[in-house]
Amino acid sequence: MKHLIDPTDLSERELEEIIDLALDIIADRNKYSEACKGKKLATLFYEPSTRTRLSFTAAMMELGGNVLGFSDAKNSSVSKGETCADTTKVINCFADIIAMRHFEEGAATVSAMNSRIPVINAGDGSHSHPTQTLTDLLTIKREIGRIDNLTIGFCGDLKFGRTVHSLIKALSRYKGIKVVLIAPEQLRLPDYMKEEVCDRNGVPYVEVDTMDEVMGELDVLYMTRVQKERFFDEDEYDRVKDFFVLDAEKLKNARPEMRILHPLPRVNEISTDVDADPRAAYFRQVENGKFVRMALILKLLEWANDPTKNTELAPADAVRGKYICRNKRCISNMEVGVESLFRPAHDHTGGYRCVYCESKPKD
Ligand SMILES: [Zn+2]
Repeated sequence: MKHLIDPTDLSERELEEIIDLALDIIADRNKYSEACKGKKLATLFYEPSTRTRLSFTAAMMELGGNVLGFSDAKNSSVSKGETCADTTKVINCFADIIAMRHFEEGAATVSAMNSRIPVINAGDGSHSHPTQTLTDLLTIKREIGRIDNLTIGFCGDLKFGRTVHSLIKALSRYKGIKVVLIAPEQLRLPDYMKEEVCDRNGVPYVEVDTMDEVMGELDVLYMTRVQKERFFDEDEYDRVKDFFVLDAEKLKNARPEMRILHPLPRVNEISTDVDADPRAAYFRQVENGKFVRMALILKLLEWANDPTKNTELAPADAVRGKYICRNKRCISNMEVGVESLFRPAHDHTGGYRCVYCESKPKD
């Protein structure tokens, strides 16, 4: 069974197939209007995320399929203490494919381990959000015409921003990618991302303090929200916040063909005077999210009948029951019956990483 838990679950070839299918859907939407007739998508949203849920719902409706599910754990059996594994087994009797959003990190992995139908991770805590990554890749492809040989600036919260981590991971498999990291000291990209992703895949990166100094070199500027609560005190936040706000003035040095992406919602990090600029691609990006989810649903349903298509949920060399995950928000620490599972880390430490959430074991 093929699931989508993390963007790297898809091979480069599979990723290309999904993006090509999305482009074909955009070119001729009528052709696909009954492609999922008689099929049901279950949207299991344990925390509200109206935008992502509506995007999945619209995607399935445009394919002629049906949607069922819940939009908040309070309205489901979860409020009675049902585990993610049990909910998945129940939903398997009602639907053909699942899209799951959960506040517990690793929930989609546990769901996939207990499912006979494909599971799509629609966001698990701050761990992964692969359909946003597919959206970003399709947007880059449509706006720039290619995904390789690009210089991409990431600006804002690079420490906690899961969309940034996922996109850098996905881009690291393409040729000629250069990454420019624009963030305040407190919100720099974590070391494990630099070591396990950039260094390991030979992706050059530079860290800078302001977007002005690199603006002219960028093909893509990926903006994210800088949240006040990430800072120790308000003075510190006030001191740096303007460096990470994009406005029309700062765009003067940008290339005419550069594109600005943002996973949305924005607060104030992109001034509204940028919205009318043709380089602002973030509202087109939202629509791409629907198209890429249509392509993903179609492909996963097709691959569900292909015995050669499988997602490796736990590698053969995983260690069972030995370590405890240090991440309090990991599903292995929040639900009963979830076995401790660690894989060898792909970095110089020689340590282990939690299969559900990628965290290290407790000392
Ligand atoms: Zn964990």
